[in-house]
Amino acid sequence: MPELPEVETIARGLADRVTGDVIESVWIGQKKEPLKSPAAEIATVLEHRRIADVRRMGKHIVFELNPAGRVSSSGNGHKFKKAGGGSRPAQWIVHLGMTGRLQVCDPQAEIANHTHAILKLSSGRELRFVDPRRFGRLSVASSGDFDATGVEPLEVGLERFVDLFHGRKTPIKSALLNQKLLRGVGNIYADESLFRAGIRPRRRATTITREQLRKLYLAIQEVLKEAIALGGSSVSDYVNADGEAGFFQLQHRVYGREGEPCLVCKTPIKRVVIAGRSSHYCPKCQK
Ligand SMILES: [Zn+2]
Repeated sequence: MPELPEVETIARGLADRVTGDVIESVWIGQKKEPLKSPAAEIATVLEHRRIADVRRMGKHIVFELNPAGRVSSSGNGHKFKKAGGGSRPAQWIVHLGMTGRLQVCDPQAEIANHTHAILKLSSGRELRFVDPRRFGRLSVASSGDFDATGVEPLEVGLERFVDLFHGRKTPIKSALLNQKLLRGVGNIYADESLFRAGIRPRRRATTITREQLRKLYLAIQEVLKEAIALGGSSVSDYVNADGEAGFFQLQHRVYGREGEPCLVCKTPIKRVVIAGRSSHYCPKCQK
């Protein structure tokens, strides 16, 4: 499942490619699962809107949409185009789920199996949403006020971070994965951050000192920033905004390395299951 760095990479790639383009028409497939908003509503909100920006919010990709007519109002007295999608800003929200991807392509490009939505753009290209396993979700916020739960791990301050976790009785790993607390941190980066902070995943948050939480805070920021700099690591069927699969990988120090020697102390990495998810840690480096 794409995590924060992958989604950030995809959102940046899309922003580079489609910002300023106008959505002329929308086709939506028959499958219901990908549609968190009704198909007709998605089409109505998207059509004739200009893509003002694409950004990440938690693990969501958010397309900021303006009325298409707005841009032509600049300067020299051209008539306004009819603002079909409505006159206020709106948002298209895409959650990629496990295998969702967004392709920017020529209309002649073969339509992949499991294509659930096709947006025709005024530039002549198409933006397609493809998702074989259908855990991805498409929705719209017609008032433009979408907000994901939780706080952004790269924006939250240290004090707020410590307060979020301090005193919680759940294992710290579960707390890190709780999207109502932090948004966007998934299994891989939780394991990697806990390793760098020297904290075992099963430790109850309430037993972790403020100083250790400060280390964890810094470790999360470090891991996420490294991964974003590398363009997101790739584990599953994940494709960047250019449609290239599996491009770079943060070297995992513990994730997926069960039985392999710790890169610091050579102790074999252990794997345990916490709340149904695999957790990897070094029994010597992490307490
Ligand atoms: Zn170790």
